Amino acid sequence: MLLAICFLKNRRKQWQKIVHREEMAQGTIIMNEIEAPRISRKAKPGQFVILQADETGERIPLTMADTNPDKGTITIIYMVVGKSTARFKELQVGDEYFALIGPLGAPTHIENFGKVVCVGGGTGIAVLHPITRA
Ligand SMILES: Cc1cc2nc3c(=O)[nH]c(=O)nc-3n(C[C@H](O)[C@H](O)[C@H](O)COP(=O)(O)OP(=O)(O)OC[C@H]3O[C@@H](n4cnc5c(N)ncnc54)[C@H](O)[C@@H]3O)c2cc1C
Repeated sequence: MLLAICFLKNRRKQWQKIVHREEMAQGTIIMNEIEAPRISRKAKPGQFVILQADETGERIPLTMADTNPDKGTITIIYMVVGKSTARFKELQVGDEYFALIGPLGAPTHIENFGKVVCVGGGTGIAVLHPITRA
């Protein structure tokens, strides 16, 4: 039983590590590339994940701004606005999220309309990147 718990704990820890991190806009917006092979394979444009920094932290939804199934990573971009995103900001490359669930939400309906203009604002433009690429 103990062996099984250790195995599951170690298994979970392998897949939620921050592999790349950037601070933008004087540290108010953070980009994290996170190891998440299963999510990166299944995710579709417009979907989001739910992340939790530690055992007692709140679970918050963030849109996937990018996925890389070859590397097995997903990218999130978030604005530091309150308690949980301030806690997320403390996590550095090599640190792991306590929980990462996804992909969630209905994917965006994608159709070929030819040339299109995409308009977004703030961190809301995170969702536009995978949509324009699709
Ligand atoms: C599907 C979905 C996708 C999302 N994707 C993204 C994304 O890609 N990037 C992104 O940046 N965000 C995204 N969000 C929003 C993100 O989830 C929230 O910004 C996040 O949950 C905030 O959590 P927090 O604990 O840091 O802030 P909270 O503490 O919950 O604060 C939220 C807001 O309340 C205000 N507030 C908090 N406490 C007080 C108080 N005492 N008095 C007055 N005001 C207060 C804060 O200033 C802030 O504006 C998404 C949300 C959803 C639902």
